[in-house]
Order: sequence, then structure tokens, then C-alpha cells
Amino acid sequence: MISFFSEKLTEWYAANKRDLPWRKSDNAYKIWVSEIMLQQTRVDTVIPYYERFLEAFPTVYHLAAASQQEVLKCWEGLGYYSRGRNLHHAAKMVVNDFGGKIPSSYEDITTLKGIGPYSAAAILSIAFNKRFAVVDGNVIRVMTRYHGISEDIRKNSTKKWVQELADELIDDKHPGDYNQAVMELGALICTPRNPLCEKCPVSQNCISFMKMETDIIPYKSPSGKIPHKEIAVGLIVNEKNELLIALRPNDSMLGGLWEFPGGKREKNETLRETVIRELKEELGVDIEVYSKYQDLKHTYSHFKITLHAFWCRIRNGKPKARASQEIIWVSLDNVDQYPFPKANRTLLNNLKKLEDHNLKRFIER
Ligand code: SF4
Repeated sequence: MISFFSEKLTEWYAANKRDLPWRKSDNAYKIWVSEIMLQQTRVDTVIPYYERFLEAFPTVYHLAAASQQEVLKCWEGLGYYSRGRNLHHAAKMVVNDFGGKIPSSYEDITTLKGIGPYSAAAILSIAFNKRFAVVDGNVIRVMTRYHGISEDIRKNSTKKWVQELADELIDDKHPGDYNQAVMELGALICTPRNPLCEKCPVSQNCISFMKMETDIIPYKSPSGKIPHKEIAVGLIVNEKNELLIALRPNDSMLGGLWEFPGGKREKNETLRETVIRELKEELGVDIEVYSKYQDLKHTYSHFKITLHAFWCRIRNGKPKARASQEIIWVSLDNVDQYPFPKANRTLLNNLKKLEDHNLKRFIER
């Protein structure tokens, strides 16, 4: 039997849903791409990436046949790069092991890299109309408020409780619409701050609304302080006015992306000492450090960094890829074909603003 919650919500969704590109198709591949991109990322940010990605890789066959560098270049700037690497890996699995068809059973789809319970439930319900309830941040907020659950949402027991409630409430006939409706309500009406309860289709049965507790539910215990890392990198320039860049190992954070060589400052070390030590360890060379070029700040999900970039020149030795997959020399004119993480890309964009692209002047004394 359809519940009050489910009925009201899906009616509201039909009349109020946003016109988003992935809602125009029931193609499982396109839905899969959208669900992976939407993890931890805002809808507005995802739209242009989604459109570009599907233009470059319109089918799972195109994605499977692409190189990892092509995929990461398309993903550049979207963050959480393991999603792109896993999607690419999984596309090859779909082609090789499932005849090019996205699996429609929970057992099979969760064998694909990067597809956990949330993505599986989303793809199976939206693309295949299967009864699996999704639970993400929006759903947790709607469910805890609607049911008046004041327990800490960081606890696994609370998440499990929410999942059980979501499994009970899901609409049998239209599970995909139901899932999207709860997430849409969380995004548009049941917002983290100042929810628009007067416009909410389920307010008459919402416990937090009735008890005026929407400002204290959901409860999330404070997180610890976010660590901050100081990273020092070398802008190493050669005689041909080229920069040395390194390809990060695939199994590391930001794996498969390029960067300027360098690393984390150790205790009691100056930033110059960090660059000298890191470049010796990573490339096996002795360097001369010239001036500081720039400091850039960037925030990842679990830590923050300040990236300090120094102009450097090799004094001794031939650089080798000791800590990376590969190293190459590249000119500013050719660097855009390579994918870089955000802070490195900002650095490059700033370098490209230099009038004549003459980098050598920074290492001339
Ligand atoms: S009534 Fe308010 S708090 Fe309750 S589900 Fe609707 S928007 Fe959220």
C-alpha cells in the first residue's frame, strides 16, 4: 500500500522537479554517469561536466575504449578523481564481462568498481525501476526531520535506522521517482538551514515541523579539526623553457593526474629545505632554489593544503621517476592536454598569464 509520505512526495515531484539533463533519459549508462558525478558534488557544478563527458564518451563502449588520461582530462576540476578512474575501469568490465549492458541486478552491479550501496540503489531504481531505496545526505535530513529522529547522524546505527525507514516508505510502482523525489525535497524544500516547511507536501505529518525542531534535527556531532598540510613544489625549468611535471601513481590520491614534483613539509624544516629534500627523493637530483613564485590554498574533503611553489633549476643529476609513474618536460603551450589537480591547475593558469611565457628569466641571476 502506498504511504501518505510516498504519495504526496511523488505528486509534488511530478509538478516541481527541476529540468536536469540526466532526467531526460532512461539510458542506464547516462544515469550511471550522473549518479557517480553527483556524489559529494553540487548539481550546478556537475551539469557542464556531465554534458562534456557524454559528448566525449556517448556510450559505455566509447568510455571503455578511451585512455585513462582522456577520461581524467574530462574529469579535471570535478574532484574526487577515483570516481573517474573507477567509472572508466567499470566501463571496461561492462563491455568485457556483461556484453556492454549495465547489470540490472544488485549482485552484479555492485561488482563494478565504484558502485556501492548508494549508487547501486540509485541506478537500479531510476534506470530499471527496481525497489531499492537510496540514502544520501538529503534523504537523511528529510527522514530524520519527518520522523523526529534526534540521534547523531554520524552514527552507523542512525544511518541504518534511516535506511530501514527509507526501505519501508519507498513506492513499489515508481521507486526511481520516489528516490529522486526525496532527494529533490531535501535539495529544494527541506534544506539544511531554514527549510521551507510551509511549501512542503508532507508537513502535516512531519514531527520536527510540528515540534518546531527543524533547527536541531538532524543532529551531527562536531568533527575534529581539519588538518592543514604545507606542500612545497618545484617549478623546474630547463634550457628549452620547459617545466618538469610528474604523473601521480594510480593507487594514490589524485592518481593518474599530473603535478609539479614536491611534497609535505616535515617538522622543523623550512619550505626551501622541503623542496630540496623532496626533489632529491622523488627525482634523484640536486636542485638550486630561486625565488618563491606563489602560495595557493586548497581544501580537500578531509584536509586543507597550502601549496608553495618555488622556481628551481637542476644543479646535479638527471631526473628519474622514482615516486611517480612518469616524468616529462612540457612547455606552457602544450600543458593543457594533461589533467592536473585544482591547485596545480590554478598555478599553471597563472603561469600562462606571463606575457611571453618566458620562464627562464626566473632562474637567471
Ligand atoms: S515539513 Fe519541513 S522539516 Fe518536515 S520534511 Fe517538510 S521541509 Fe522538512
